[in-house]
Amino acid sequence: MQVYVEKPKCTGCAHCFDVCPVAVFQMHDRASPDVNSDAAPAEWQWKGEHLPEVTAKWGNVQDGHHHFAEKFEGGSGGISVAVNGPSCILCQACLIECEGECIVITDDSGNTYRSVYK
Ligand code: SF4
Ligand code: SF4
Repeated sequence: MQVYVEKPKCTGCAHCFDVCPVAVFQMHDRASPDVNSDAAPAEWQWKGEHLPEVTAKWGNVQDGHHHFAEKFEGGSGGISVAVNGPSCILCQACLIECEGECIVITDDSGNTYRSVYK
């Protein structure tokens, strides 16, 4: 299984980190040198800016998560990195919990699954 996060859409909610039963995701501070260390193609790597439509949707939502925070602190913030994609068991938990709708999973047959927020 290959898993990556489209970084400019990631709100830092950490839902993926919380729900994945096999620890595919880690939260990284935005300035971390490892922030682009998953399989995301070049156009979806972190280059310093979020997509405006994502910040418009989630920037003012007060749900206890540190949306768009620079650092991962207190359970949210930073950006998710799919550091352990080969362990994915395609339980789909992350796919319905991802606020940014920015998780992409490709199975060994080449089928692609994308997150759609519940
Ligand atoms: S679908 Fe894969 S990456 Fe997502 S929560 Fe389940 S095991 Fe983890
Ligand atoms: S659930 Fe989606 S938006 Fe939230 S931290 Fe994970 S990848 Fe980013």
